[in-house]
Amino acid sequence: MREACLLVGKAHAAAASILKPGISTMQINDLVEEFIRDNGATPSFKNYHGFPYATCISMNEAVVHGFPGSHMLTEGDIFSLDIGVYKNGFHGDSAYTYAIGSVSDEVKQLLRVTKESLYLGISKARQGNRVGDIANAIQEHTEKKHGYGVVRELVGHGLGRSLHEDPQVPNYGKKGTGAKLKAGMVLAIEPMINMGVKDVVHLDDGWTVLTKDRKPSAHFEHDVCITTAEPDILSSFKEIEEAEKKNSNLSWSYTI
Ligand code: MG
Ligand code: MG
Repeated sequence: MREACLLVGKAHAAAASILKPGISTMQINDLVEEFIRDNGATPSFKNYHGFPYATCISMNEAVVHGFPGSHMLTEGDIFSLDIGVYKNGFHGDSAYTYAIGSVSDEVKQLLRVTKESLYLGISKARQGNRVGDIANAIQEHTEKKHGYGVVRELVGHGLGRSLHEDPQVPNYGKKGTGAKLKAGMVLAIEPMINMGVKDVVHLDDGWTVLTKDRKPSAHFEHDVCITTAEPDILSSFKEIEEAEKKNSNLSWSYTI
């Protein structure tokens, strides 16, 4: 599983190194798909319940499940790239939000707080804790502390031989509630955080989820194995963050 999860990070890094204003989101999708196949894996999302592409690319006010297409990246855009790979019988699934050119301090804060909340959630991914402990840590930081909207309709999930397994891992909830965490479980923890209201709407394409107020949304996702000791993060942002720092067309890089 770790191999599948690490390959997702490498596919992200390959994409991060080519991002610039003027390239289309379909070019990003095609590069990622080729990278995955060249590495002996298949894209988990393609044809998943009919999803037509290898990646989800969700621009600005799109929360998740956006379609890649002819849209050209423009200075000031942010977008979440979500990648899944299937290798050796297991899935890896990781999302990262990129900023093109210069973006406002307000947007940078949304990205920073969302990423921080992911790691706060991960810190609770311990044997004996419950799903609600992860959910509560994310909600406290994003909604209570910063006043952002935590999307209710979309949640993280278990991960393994299937892309989506039990338990569901919401980004809101009460401490001490929900499924008990056991060593060996792998969870995809993925805060989806809106700058404005928590409410979302669905586009007619049947997939794309947008913020109701059309303010931007951020999304970061790691795959985490519960152990008898520290949480083991199977996916990695290391190469993504390195590629992000090297690429002068990307304005934001924040490492935790
Ligand atoms: Mg994902
Ligand atoms: Mg996921």
